[in-house]
Amino acid sequence: MSEQHQNLAVIGHVDHGKSTLVGRLLYETGSVPEHVIEQHREEAEEKGKGGFEFAYVMDNLAEERERGVTIDIAHQEFSTDEYEFTIVDCPGHRDFVKNMITGASQADNAVLVVAADDGVAPQTQEHVFLARTLGIDELIVGVNKMDIVDYKESTYDDVVEEVTQLLKQVQFNTEDASFIPISAFEGDNIAEASDETPWYDGETLLEALNSLPAPEPPTDAPLRLPIQDVYTISGIGTVPVGRIETGVMNIGDNVSFQPSDVGGEVKTIEMHHEEVPKAEPGDNVGFNVRGIGKDDIRRGDVCGPADDPPSVAETFQAQVVVMQHPSVITAGYTPVFHAHTSQVACTIESIDKKMDPASGEVAEENPDFIQSGDAAVVTIRPQKPLSIEPSSEIPELGSFAIRDMGQTIAAGKVLEVNEK
Ligand code: GDP
Repeated sequence: MSEQHQNLAVIGHVDHGKSTLVGRLLYETGSVPEHVIEQHREEAEEKGKGGFEFAYVMDNLAEERERGVTIDIAHQEFSTDEYEFTIVDCPGHRDFVKNMITGASQADNAVLVVAADDGVAPQTQEHVFLARTLGIDELIVGVNKMDIVDYKESTYDDVVEEVTQLLKQVQFNTEDASFIPISAFEGDNIAEASDETPWYDGETLLEALNSLPAPEPPTDAPLRLPIQDVYTISGIGTVPVGRIETGVMNIGDNVSFQPSDVGGEVKTIEMHHEEVPKAEPGDNVGFNVRGIGKDDIRRGDVCGPADDPPSVAETFQAQVVVMQHPSVITAGYTPVFHAHTSQVACTIESIDKKMDPASGEVAEENPDFIQSGDAAVVTIRPQKPLSIEPSSEIPELGSFAIRDMGQTIAAGKVLEVNEK
């Protein structure tokens, strides 16, 4: 049986136990490669440590890291009965923003790790804010290191209250959050209910992960298919190729390509070298549209239904987070925006509001500049036609990365599109 897939982000303040928790999840679900366990079982015995210890798994995972740096917890995989989980990059990771935009880091749900002995810390706030911005559906809050606070219920309650307040501040629906007292290190309430927390009768972390709602493929949204390439194939003609982000494409559909503003009827759809009558989100397809020639369309166009065509922005308003910029960003700045398969120079026409990353509230109206670490609402004018959608309507087509000087300097999501 094929398991459903989930992308899971593990977020939280440094040292609160994210890596240890991921190691623990891999260990408890039998996802640590057998040869790794074997090697360390031997080592443990040689050293007379009496059997195999979780700590050895952590040590081994730690070998992959440079000294003193947290293990690379991204791209680790484990399965529960229901799901196959991939841990995606975490905020703060070097390529996080880039991967987030290309979809590789688009997490469906997240585990927030909060150390019981420290409570809400600066990165807890930042990550919760990012999680909300990025559209995380459900948050499982692991109140970690319960062993350090002697499994005290009152300490747990205090942290739950503190995190609940934080979620309310950033307007994250607290009904979509669940809380579990855990020790990643000792394994409490991860795979099995812990004897140390008799006052807790909720789910273990693995149970909570297993009962997450299944991510729903966006089949009900209108068709959006960003074009990656356009080929000419003998016997068929012009064949645009790309991955369907949302909606469904059927043979016979009337489609429109934007911003090139041409369209026609879908004659054939091909997937994995076979003709298919229809294709769905996630499918990589090549297709042919009656009357469309190779020079009529290009990479960066988005294909959608003729009666609900992709939006083309004259300007758009967006929320951006500046990840790294050597100086300051002011109105007039024109870097390259990467959105789906499109790359277009865009001018930041105005900086409308600066947001407090911790609370998501407006910190300053019309600031003169923004810099690394800032979140802001800005108005953007593409220098060439760009098809993009409000994130609230079609999130898959509503985010972008801003690149300059060979690196990703900011990421954002579209709040509003002003069409021509
Ligand atoms: P990260 O920076 O969030 O990935 O945190 P780490 O997983 O690297 O953990 C930071 C430190 O806390 C390490 O020394 C861990 O051994 C320790 N730690 C993590 N989880 C627990 C726990 O549940 N109990 C105790 N006592 N220590 C923990």
